[in-house]
Amino acid sequence: MIVAEQKPLDEIMQSVSEDKNVLVLGCGTCVTVCFAGGEKEAEILAASMRMRSEMSDGGCTVDHLTIQRQCEWEYLDSAADAIKGADKVVSLACGIGAQAIIERFPEAQMVPGLNTRFYGLPTKQGVWEERCGGCGDCVLEYTDGICPVSRCSKSLLNGPCGGSHDGLCEVSDEMECAWHLIVERMEKLGHLDRLEEMHEPKNWSAARDGGPGKIVREDLLREPPGEVDEGEEGTGS
Ligand code: SF4
Ligand code: SF4
Repeated sequence: MIVAEQKPLDEIMQSVSEDKNVLVLGCGTCVTVCFAGGEKEAEILAASMRMRSEMSDGGCTVDHLTIQRQCEWEYLDSAADAIKGADKVVSLACGIGAQAIIERFPEAQMVPGLNTRFYGLPTKQGVWEERCGGCGDCVLEYTDGICPVSRCSKSLLNGPCGGSHDGLCEVSDEMECAWHLIVERMEKLGHLDRLEEMHEPKNWSAARDGGPGKIVREDLLREPPGEVDEGEEGTGS
């Protein structure tokens, strides 16, 4: 899932300081699962913002609404009236959902309420860890299922580097060395010799190094849906 965390309230308040009518727009998918931007978080943030506003000049109305996904226009359209009626939308989606708002509603003023961090996995209650960097040329088949791109601090394809110690990364003693994990796992599975296999150079142009990614599936192409004026209401108020 995409993992994000909420921006500090001071920063969010600063970005709406000139606005009278604010909408906090939650997203019901990834950021709900990581407790950053779902219905509950949208409601709490809106209440906190209202309280802050009342403690200062009291001149800001803050509503909230949560839709299933901000990153798909079909769902975004259900919030069309609320978005168009707000001076500013605080998006509690990842950076994709936040940008979708202004692509779908170009007149809307949007500020992000979250910092989008990574593609990750909840490894235990309250802990999320990065597992994929969306590199576009997956090499998990060579590393026994452990991603060196996202889990090695240097994204090395031929680690471990000289800084690996006691199974930890030289960047921080809080981080496991990804290559230590890879070697350990290969050893356990009895095929450490696979590390000696030669591979074609990785295609880094499929990652961010090649510019913004784009996938076109000719077999699925169709015209995008037209914008709707009035849509089905989402949850919240
Ligand atoms: S190798 Fe690339 S696609 Fe595969 S898990 Fe790692 S970052 Fe993701
Ligand atoms: S110590 Fe391990 S995880 Fe850290 S940079 Fe070196 S190889 Fe990568």
